[in-house]
Formats: sequence, structure tokens, C-alpha cells
Amino acid sequence: MFNVRDKGVLELVRRAFRENSELALRLREVIWRYFEKVVERHGLKRIKIMNFCGTHEWTVTHYGIRSLLPEGLELVAGPGCPVCIVPAYYIDVVLKLGAEGVRIYTYGDVVKLRSVRARAPPRSLEELKAFGGDVTVVYSFIDAVRMARERGGDSLFLGIGFETMAPSYALAFKRGIVPKNLKFLSLVRLTPPAMKYTIKVYRERGLLPIQGVIAPGHVSAVIGGGAWEFLPRDYGLPTVVAGFEPIDVLIAIAQILQMIYHESPRVIIEYRRVVSWDGNVYAKKAVDEVFVKAYSAWRGLGFIPRSGLKLRERYSEAYDALSYYGVPDLTPREFIFTHAHHGVPWEYDLPPRCRCGEVVLGIARPIDCPMFMKGCTPSKPWGPCMVSYEGTCNVWARSGVGQISDLKGVV
Ligand code: SF4
Repeated sequence: MFNVRDKGVLELVRRAFRENSELALRLREVIWRYFEKVVERHGLKRIKIMNFCGTHEWTVTHYGIRSLLPEGLELVAGPGCPVCIVPAYYIDVVLKLGAEGVRIYTYGDVVKLRSVRARAPPRSLEELKAFGGDVTVVYSFIDAVRMARERGGDSLFLGIGFETMAPSYALAFKRGIVPKNLKFLSLVRLTPPAMKYTIKVYRERGLLPIQGVIAPGHVSAVIGGGAWEFLPRDYGLPTVVAGFEPIDVLIAIAQILQMIYHESPRVIIEYRRVVSWDGNVYAKKAVDEVFVKAYSAWRGLGFIPRSGLKLRERYSEAYDALSYYGVPDLTPREFIFTHAHHGVPWEYDLPPRCRCGEVVLGIARPIDCPMFMKGCTPSKPWGPCMVSYEGTCNVWARSGVGQISDLKGVV
């Protein structure tokens, strides 16, 4: 699968967008026409569509797609950034183990995630490395497996990611290639439960409800378009699994408006060149054999039922990092007893003034945060949504939002 951020691919995407400008304009017309028809028929003056995935947010922001939409049609980013939602607790755990001499393997963007509780450096894996800790950035779990074999020593892999990463972890365990000196800290999170949770929060807080969902393309390549069937069935939400080119996103918006107009919510797979209804059956089976769904914590949000993956017993005995190092896992009980005095649930999990808990739900925009591009920038992130390329704050910062005087049509 190609990476839309790869420079060569980016250039192709840009060319495609230029060459497809006529198509884009026609789609814009369809979107405006259906928006007016929806307003007329259903009396909806504002429509909110959630693009769940951080990479969709990049496409939307980078290509100025919001500026093509009628006033009243809002695109909001969802919790689709796996780095943003890693609870700070686990960063503290890894910092402590790293300081005790455990070799840490992880992905490039993760090293910038900061501890909230640490009062003095090292507050991140990047700082730990500067202090002499053994922190190695890898491109994949397989790289960590190979290096742990070659170098030996107690080591730990920070297994962050959504359903897209889980098969690579599962297959390595299934094939028996993971050495016993490499322990695995599973921070894999599942996207459909997070979407359910998001809808619940909007309802509970009386916010303008989400009326359509652009479902993640990469994740759906694994779990299948059918995994989103609950959205139209249980919530009446039109859902489009979309690709990552600007035209894909415009098509998805047009299809969602058409479904709202015709009152026929269902799941449409726009990204047919990659996604099928059932997904990657082989990968899903491997993941099921190695992992079990667990009640898991999302940073700034809290615990969501069956929203994470933990190693099954036959693998956890040899590989689970928390059990091996005798570190208790984060539990709701631990949260209540340790942090209840903070009053606001899960606020402790974010640095002061950071509004990432609302940004990942699309309730606040990065520019609503007082730290955005002041104390928090891509080179020096203060909060987790500024760390990863998929974080909404990082995406907005890199696209120049908030740094130009005329924001009309951009936000
Ligand atoms: S700009 Fe930084 S501090 Fe503010 S919400 Fe985003 S990540 Fe948090």
C-alpha cells in the first residue's frame, strides 16, 4: 500500500488534483446542490460530517477542502490518530524502564510524546535518549525483532497503532520469530468502539450531532467496510469509506449528502481500489489468534469497552511487557483512586491548557487552544495532538492554519 505522505506520491496526488480540477468543481456543485436540497427538505441548517482519520484530516486541511464547502456544512476531525490517544501513564512506564536500562524500540513520532507527571527531564523518550537511554527508532516491529535478536539485552517494543498495525504484530508472534528478550507493550486501539464513544459524547453533551461519517480507508482495508455497518443500522448515519486523495474526500461528502437527502443511510465503499466489504480475512484471523479485545484507555477520553488489543495468554506469558516487569496496567480503579481529586476526568492525562481531549473528538479546533503555535509547535509539541503527522494540531500547524490572517473558508 502506498503512503500518501511519500514525496513522489504527494506530487502525483497534487498533479491528479490539478488535472482533475474540473471534476473537483463538478463535485463541488453536487455538494452545494445537495446541501441546499437537504436544507429545504429536512430543515437542517447545519450539517456536521466527521472525518475519523488523521490522514483524511491532512487531505482536507492541506488541500483546503473546507473552503469548497457551503457555509453550514462542517467537516470535523475525529480520534483517528493512534499516537494522540496513548495515555500518558504508559509514557511514564516506558521512561522508568528505559532509565533502568531496558532498551526501547518505537516509531519516530512516539519519541516526542511527553510525560505529564515528570517534573524534571527526561520527560520524553527523545530526552531519555539525550540522557544516554537506549532508545531506537524503528520503521516496523520486524526491525525491532531483528535488532533485539542481534543486540540481545532486555528490550521493549511500544506497540502503538490502530487495526492497520495489528496484523504485523500478530504475524510476527504467530510465526514464532519474536525473541524472548523483546517484550511487547500493546497499545493497539480499535476504531469502531472509538466512533461509538464519540457519538455518545456528542449526545450526552447536547452538541450538534454528527450526521455523516467518512470512515478510515487504511483501517478499513483490514477490518472491511462491513465493520462500519453499525453506524447506519444503530445510529442512522450515512457512512463512506473513502480514499485519501482530495477527489475521494469530495466524492465521500457528496455521497453522504445524497444519503441524508434520500434518508437512506448505509455504508458505501468509495475506496474500492483498496477496501472490500470483508476486509483482509487472513490478517483479521491472525489478529484474533494472537490478541483479545480489552477495556482500554484513550488519552483525554477515558476507558472504552473492547477498544484495545491485549496479547492472549499463550503469548502474554512470554512477551507481555507489563507482566514481565511487574508494572500494573492502567485500570479505571487506579484512575479513580489516584486521580479523582483532580475533579475533571482525564484532564490529568493532558498537560495544562492542552485541549487535545476535545480536539480528538472534533469538539474543539486546534486554534481554540491557547497553546496552538505559541507554546505548542510541531518541533516542540506540548500536547499529544501536535506530536504525530496524524494529529489534528500537527496537521493544522503544518498546513499553516492559524498563521495566516484570512481564515475565511479554512476553518
Ligand atoms: S495545540 Fe498543543 S496543547 Fe493545544 S490542544 Fe493541540 S496538542 Fe494540545
